[in-house]
Amino acid sequence: MFKVYDISMTVQPGMAVWGNAPAKQPELRTLNPHPPDKNGVYETELRLGVHTGTHLDAPLHMLADGDTIETISLQELVGSARVVDLTHVRDGIGRADLEPLGLVRGDWVLFKTINSETDTFEDDFIYLREDGARYLIEVGVRGIGTDALGIERSQPEYPTHRLLFRNRILIVEGLRLKEVAAGTYFMVIAPLKLSGIEAAPARALLIGS
Ligand SMILES: [Zn+2]
Repeated sequence: MFKVYDISMTVQPGMAVWGNAPAKQPELRTLNPHPPDKNGVYETELRLGVHTGTHLDAPLHMLADGDTIETISLQELVGSARVVDLTHVRDGIGRADLEPLGLVRGDWVLFKTINSETDTFEDDFIYLREDGARYLIEVGVRGIGTDALGIERSQPEYPTHRLLFRNRILIVEGLRLKEVAAGTYFMVIAPLKLSGIEAAPARALLIGS
């Protein structure tokens, strides 16, 4: 038997959003509640930013001439992925934290950090430092998943984002990995089928034994 781990955030009012900004909260509006005779149709409208919760970023997010979200094929988002335990890391993930992991070309790597232990947005979340990004480019990983709402903070000019996007390394943000042990899983990242923009909310699953 296999086990399915849902590593996505629940999209709902009050969820953790970037910078704890109220304007970034998703909004659910009931257009049509059930009438008292219960013979109606219930309908809800959802308003959300595309970087809400678990989501896939496209290069356009940080590069003016970058590719848009529909250029990332599902083929690139489905397959083997490694969850690595970085819960000992404080502040930022650097080259020295990543070298011992034995990552190889083509890997999808998901960072499990202390970010997964809280459901709130913390200003000092664990992020990927520029030297860590450079190392992952040298290795040639396919994609990176982080359990923070962003892969980077505190670095002027956003070198981590820009380096990864320029090298066509995929970035999934907002994963929830508390319940998942380090190891290799079958991963499915399913972004909403949006087009022409810089990101898409996604459902993310890991399948293991
Ligand atoms: Zn994003």
